[in-house]
Amino acid sequence: MTDEPRVLVMYVGGTIGMQRTPRGYAPEPGLLGGLLGRMAQFQDPERPRGTMPVSQFGRVVRWHLEEYSPLLDSSNMDMADWVRMAEEIARLYDEFDAFVILHGTDTMAYSASALSFMLRNLGKPVVITGSQIPLIENRNDALDNLLGALTVAGHFHIPEVGLYFHHKLMRGNRTRKMDASGLDAFQSTNFPPLAEVGIGVDVAWHRVRRMPRGPLVVRPITESNVAALRVFPGITADILGNFLQPPLRGVVLETFGAGNVPDIRPDFLDVLRRATEAGIVIVNCTQCPRGTVKPDYVGGRALAEAGVVGGADMTPEAALTKLAYLLSRSELSVDEVRRWMAVDLRGEMTVPVERPRFDFADSRFVRGVASALAPGEGQLEVRREINRALLPVVMCAAASHGDLPTLRALVEEGAAPDLPDYDGRTPLHVAAANGHGEICRFLIGQGAGVVPRDRWGHTPEDAARAAGHGAIARMLSGAAVSGEGT
Ligand code: ASP
Repeated sequence: MTDEPRVLVMYVGGTIGMQRTPRGYAPEPGLLGGLLGRMAQFQDPERPRGTMPVSQFGRVVRWHLEEYSPLLDSSNMDMADWVRMAEEIARLYDEFDAFVILHGTDTMAYSASALSFMLRNLGKPVVITGSQIPLIENRNDALDNLLGALTVAGHFHIPEVGLYFHHKLMRGNRTRKMDASGLDAFQSTNFPPLAEVGIGVDVAWHRVRRMPRGPLVVRPITESNVAALRVFPGITADILGNFLQPPLRGVVLETFGAGNVPDIRPDFLDVLRRATEAGIVIVNCTQCPRGTVKPDYVGGRALAEAGVVGGADMTPEAALTKLAYLLSRSELSVDEVRRWMAVDLRGEMTVPVERPRFDFADSRFVRGVASALAPGEGQLEVRREINRALLPVVMCAAASHGDLPTLRALVEEGAAPDLPDYDGRTPLHVAAANGHGEICRFLIGQGAGVVPRDRWGHTPEDAARAAGHGAIARMLSGAAVSGEGT
């Protein structure tokens, strides 16, 4: 960024710039711009309009305010408004270094999630914020939130759609509004903040997504036939059946705990099965504010058997907007939409590591190691644990030595080709770092993910490049581009 970064501030509506009226708070055109121009925090009196005073980091942020017409309470916003914001960012992308969106809090988490999907290859900061109390009030949270958002956007190159609230920058598609009255209103329970603002600004760079390679592309959300349904005790199959009707194309099913529904109710499961067979994409998300969906219980497994896609730890907001985004892509079949729903596209989900289907009893290779460690019958659980602990290490070791026959044997016996070790390094990372192109091609051919990140945030391509294996890095980059597609 330059010493005088330019930030476009888009005021789309919400409490932050509202005025008191006899019927309650309402957005007031022109109010926010007038206030900012008179406040010392936002305006250096000696410099042109929109020039902030020098920051603690020695930079002068220059903002330009653009106001929407009409200004909206965010409860009145819909998908067309999401697209409008995305297209405006794309239109002015080259003119500004960063973007701040001032938005109502009620549906801010939806807009942040939707923008993250629509702005493919985003390479500049987009920070969305708002407030619970308007800036015109004497005591407010608007000043802190707006100043914090401008500071973060204007100083730190975080190429993501972030949501800034109450001293934290969070990944937008991980957030939820959790408090209708308190000032610490947004939480990102399944993913720690990208930055925390205290005396200084502490950016967790290892969590920040890498710069994309390609140019920004807006892929608009046009499909509005999506919905969310919260399961509750005693929900009838009739209600569910009436809900799952055309023109509905996608549903976020908010289930109990780790993704459960009543599994002793064949009528309920039948309705779901019929809906998935009819082409409705149903995604299983937990109604708990924290945690992830897992197929550990009979109820969760029954859903998977009925064709319901596991939503891992996605928020319902992220799942709904992702569903709308993927269903808007006319080139994707229903099965492809289901497959992409389970893939992490923009950091919105923690992809569950597939447990190895591998069983050492079938494998001569690991059998020797396992029997040495856990001799005797009747210790299946111990053996399984040993498998779980050893397999990634053994696979990474084989990848590091270029030992294709061993890798092939393990994969043929059911080991996942991209099993990460304790540092999140997959066999592809190791093969790439050691210059074993043939092993890389084999692993990719077996369906290994090309862009997993290890605990330092590095992809296999990064590992190849760092070790000077340019040809392998280029091959991995090509595979990532052709494979991702969304
Ligand atoms: N109803 C308002 C809105 O979402 C609330 C707020 O901005 O905080 O626009």
